[in-house]
Amino acid sequence: MAKIYYEKDADPSLITGKKVGIIGYGSQGHAHALNLRDSGVQVMVGLHDGSSSRAKAEAEGLVVASPAEVTKASDVIMILVPDTVQGSVYKDSIEPNLDGSKTLMFAHGFNIHFGEITPPADVDVSMIAPKAPGHRVREVFVDGQGVPSLVAIHQDASGNALANALSYGAGIGSMRAGIVETTFKEETETDLFGEQTVLCGGVTSLVTNAFEVLVEAGYQPEIAYFEVMHELKLIVDLLYEGGMKYMRYSVSETAEYGDYSRGPRVVDEHARIAMKQVLDEIQDGTFAKEWIAENHEGQPRFKAMRASAESHEIEDVGEQLRGMMTFLGKK
Ligand code: NAD
Ligand code: MG
Repeated sequence: MAKIYYEKDADPSLITGKKVGIIGYGSQGHAHALNLRDSGVQVMVGLHDGSSSRAKAEAEGLVVASPAEVTKASDVIMILVPDTVQGSVYKDSIEPNLDGSKTLMFAHGFNIHFGEITPPADVDVSMIAPKAPGHRVREVFVDGQGVPSLVAIHQDASGNALANALSYGAGIGSMRAGIVETTFKEETETDLFGEQTVLCGGVTSLVTNAFEVLVEAGYQPEIAYFEVMHELKLIVDLLYEGGMKYMRYSVSETAEYGDYSRGPRVVDEHARIAMKQVLDEIQDGTFAKEWIAENHEGQPRFKAMRASAESHEIEDVGEQLRGMMTFLGKK
């Protein structure tokens, strides 16, 4: 079983005694910066010239400077720009201003694990990865609680990398929930696998195929949308609250019997073999290499896939039906 750290395992004074530079002020960046500030930490935000986030950070009273200046001025540098630009931000602004007294931190292991960023050996390198989107990291903190995080240590030059990382985790509120120990390798590979096979890729492919089967069989697209997409939220909420047993307890016995007897026929041994291949491509670096090259070329295939997905009938039908549901926020 995984090692889990709780409040008593962290010394909050380690991070309040340090200057922390948050590079990027997006989903995670704003939440880390504000939570740390509210925990009494000296925070600076690093943004490139012309960043649209600058005004937001300054409106919160945060000090904003260039990523290079923030790196120079900070003891701990947390990199929270998108994973696809971390390599170039590191090379241009962070690396020239790093020295062995500093700690480099991440919220996802991709760039370290796949070698896009190789910090000097005398720098501590650690990860605190909240298991929630940034707005939840902030909301839950303001509410007096915290979201769980993962902690990992890539380099421990000082001998204090874990204690410092846990203290940072306490600063963003995660010690109120608990922090689970992992490695950069495990976090990166399982994160990619989860989003590819279930959370993003698996779910959208399952829904799109089911929608097409119903529409091709002559059913109305509106009805198909409700049955295979809209109601997914209901089911996911139940899974989230109480696991599979609770979801099955909450649906009808007819639905539960269909689940046991038909589900494994749809997502079958073939899907399992494909999942294993997807995992192999993550582990051997094939996926990372492909995605890094795609970004260097300006994302031509990625943009084409996005455009094609956006023009699918399920999106038009969905937009129309969601328009009827005035209780939904506009997205
Ligand atoms: P994001 O896309 O929300 O925000 C990135 C921010 O970086 C932007 O708002 C901007 O301030 C800055 N930025 C954008 N392009 C830049 C550029 N070219 N140069 C310099 N700065 C630039 O990113 P995010 O989702 O907060 O992700 C940050 C890190 O946190 C990633 O490593 C990600 O994997 C990790 N993470 C994200 C989530 C999540 O739910 N979003 C959860 C856990 C971990
Ligand atoms: Mg993830």
